[in-house]
Amino acid sequence: MNYQKEVGYGLIAGLLVFLLLIKINVLPFVLFAGFIYLVGDRFGLGGIGNKAGTVLSDATKAQLTTFDDIGGQETAKQELLEALEFINEDGISRALGIRPLQGILLSGPPGTGKTLLAKAAASYTDSAFLAASGSEFVEMYAGVGAQRVRQLFERARETARKQGKTKAIIFIDEIDVLGGHRGQHSSHLEYDQTLNQLLVEMDGIANDNDVRILVIGATNRPDLLDSALLRPGRFDRLVRVDLPDKDARLQILKVHTRNKPLAADVDLKQIAQETYGFSGAHLESLANEAAILAMRERAKELTQRHFRQSIEKVMLGETLDRRPSAKERERISIHEAGHALVAEHVRPGSVANVTILSRGNALGYVRQTPNDDAGYLQTEEQIREQLWVLLAGAVAEELNLGSRSTGATGDFQKAIELARRYVLSGMSPLGVVDKEVLSKETFHEAEQALLKEIEEAVRAYLAEHSPLLRKVASRLQQEERIEGSCLRAWLAES
Ligand code: ATP
Repeated sequence: MNYQKEVGYGLIAGLLVFLLLIKINVLPFVLFAGFIYLVGDRFGLGGIGNKAGTVLSDATKAQLTTFDDIGGQETAKQELLEALEFINEDGISRALGIRPLQGILLSGPPGTGKTLLAKAAASYTDSAFLAASGSEFVEMYAGVGAQRVRQLFERARETARKQGKTKAIIFIDEIDVLGGHRGQHSSHLEYDQTLNQLLVEMDGIANDNDVRILVIGATNRPDLLDSALLRPGRFDRLVRVDLPDKDARLQILKVHTRNKPLAADVDLKQIAQETYGFSGAHLESLANEAAILAMRERAKELTQRHFRQSIEKVMLGETLDRRPSAKERERISIHEAGHALVAEHVRPGSVANVTILSRGNALGYVRQTPNDDAGYLQTEEQIREQLWVLLAGAVAEELNLGSRSTGATGDFQKAIELARRYVLSGMSPLGVVDKEVLSKETFHEAEQALLKEIEEAVRAYLAEHSPLLRKVASRLQQEERIEGSCLRAWLAES
């Protein structure tokens, strides 16, 4: 928030009162200040307009960024390209009566290439490009943010016209700052007005024939966004931009070493392997630091040693969001291997992939293909299956490392919730129960009996498959990711 401005206004008001007290005529000062304010506003000072310089230079830079400049992020690129096809095939989609796409939301951790994707989208669709950040719209004064939103859309149209284009992309970083749930902020009137204005502008896009605007928002917290923003017709495409895995890191390193002379001993694969948890921005910084190091040594080429030393520099210089220690990685790998093996046991063919890359609040995850039968109801078998999978992480840790960790807390919460549903739906030996008269102890005992029974079964299964579990875990530690097909092949062999 722009607090300096508020402090400035306070000081000016204080000064005026002081001048009045010592009987100095303040009218000329007030008139002069008013004149400066009006002229400033007219020329865009103090509003989004003062970003005009950045906006225009962004526009030129955007033309230079293409999807080839973005390493990895294959799924995100693919999803974005599919969405952009509607814009490039404007004639066809209009003829079919397809509603113009108005907003795409990119969600993921900082430095993973969201801005790059938006710029590449602009050059791919031959659009003018404007960037702003959610925090630029947020002021203490009612109406200022809304006015800035209007200015931004107006400026997008103007810029496109000036550049002879018929399309413009507005990129709003940190959109959660401006698009959070309405009615929740202390100065909520101003927040709500700003967000309402954004909704109005986005709704107006459909009728805008002269310049077609597409809004690309970026956030790390899509859950904070007001549901009105996510409803169809606004940001109706959600594209996840995650931390890169090993292969993606290699691609990103290749992008950022394109313009650098590399010595024969440089093994980017090895560097990618050692940079677990790095974002694209970290890798860019790593390549840059390696070049700086080479320059300091007056070397003509960048060597593997330069890269190695820079890894440490980037790691020490910036605290990575999540970078588990080697021991923790081992534990996470065993935990996820447990989930994956048991998931494949209770629902064969269901594991799409397993990874130990953190995502959201999870340190690793097993992606399961959705159950076709899963709808509004859950059967007794389905609850049991889920309980098997949920308990497997902790049991795998216990069997292989001799103890459990707090990593299973989330799993247990979900398991307890399921066990509660199991008992309340009359599936336990208690039969049909009345929640009102059932004592807490009896309820708890019924839940525990179910959880214990499944835990024992999971323990027996994992103990029997211990060598395979270790194999999966050690591959996960090395490669960070295993495809479901590989897991199934190993299971078939075992
Ligand atoms: P933030 O959320 O902090 O705004 P972001 O996700 O928008 O971050 P970018 O600004 O796009 O991240 O990326 C920062 C820099 O990191 C880029 O300028 C680029 O050099 C590098 N970078 C990030 N991701 C990639 C990638 N996938 N390929 C190549 N370079 C990348």
